[in-house]
Amino acid sequence: MALIQVSCSHCSETWDVSKTKRGGHVNCPACGVLVPVKGTSDSKLFYGLLILGVPLTLIVLIVGGAVLFFLYWSFMRLINP
Ligand SMILES: [Zn+2]
Repeated sequence: MALIQVSCSHCSETWDVSKTKRGGHVNCPACGVLVPVKGTSDSKLFYGLLILGVPLTLIVLIVGGAVLFFLYWSFMRLINP
């Protein structure tokens, strides 16, 4: 599993934590102070993708629906003028 380095702001102890702790907090092994872990957590990334992905999916559905409707309409005009 990938590790990232964390530095304690209180006693300048440096240690490695699992990448899954990104965006969260860990306790310093030397002095016990709660230290924030740099980086964005995977859940934040997931929600970011969700926020970006939902409107994009809607646009694709609307445009795709319009194109399909136009094709259907053209076809109906062709066979039944
Ligand atoms: Zn410390």
